[in-house]
Amino acid sequence: MMDKYAMRLWSVRNARWLARLYNGLESFLALLHPLFVRIGYERLDGYFLAVEKKIKGFLFDSQSCGQCTLKLTGMSCPMNCPKRLRNGPCGGVRPDGNCEVIPDMPCVWVVAWEGRRRLDPDLRAVRFVLPPADDRLKNTSAWLREVRKRHAHPEPVIPARNPGQQPGRHPEEHPGQHLEQHPVVHLEQSHAV
Ligand code: SF4
Repeated sequence: MMDKYAMRLWSVRNARWLARLYNGLESFLALLHPLFVRIGYERLDGYFLAVEKKIKGFLFDSQSCGQCTLKLTGMSCPMNCPKRLRNGPCGGVRPDGNCEVIPDMPCVWVVAWEGRRRLDPDLRAVRFVLPPADDRLKNTSAWLREVRKRHAHPEPVIPARNPGQQPGRHPEEHPGQHLEQHPVVHLEQSHAV
């Protein structure tokens, strides 16, 4: 029987070309921005999410947080960490590199470091700070969000897909508070992917 973590480990081993593919896809989608604006990003979101869930779920066990960090985390999805840590491992990593909470699972951050080193063999430290996951964006398309960011296109109101949550709002409706209010902070710009 195939190891249940085999696919995500394979993706990290192949982080280099997968990250290139990912970049290429986002660049291609960015070309379609005028079309997306005409159709309406909010109308497209569900379709893109369905495709993303299939592809990223299969390759990375993606949890569809809507704020994809895969290129920064060596193609290892940090949302698979049971503590949802987005900035490195907790103090409980086992001596064999497995997770303290899920003993048979390789620690997401041990794996992420391996993936980062594949993307940048000279890397000695990961020098960025990721924002905390914003649950209002869960189950929305991260690919479309990336395209909007590239074109500085404002976020539409995002209907809440998780029971009990408030809908995500257009940044201008929250003066001083943006959906991605904590941008990735690169401590050393040259090491960013
Ligand atoms: S050992 Fe790794 S995966 Fe497990 S909780 Fe700690 S940081 Fe998360």
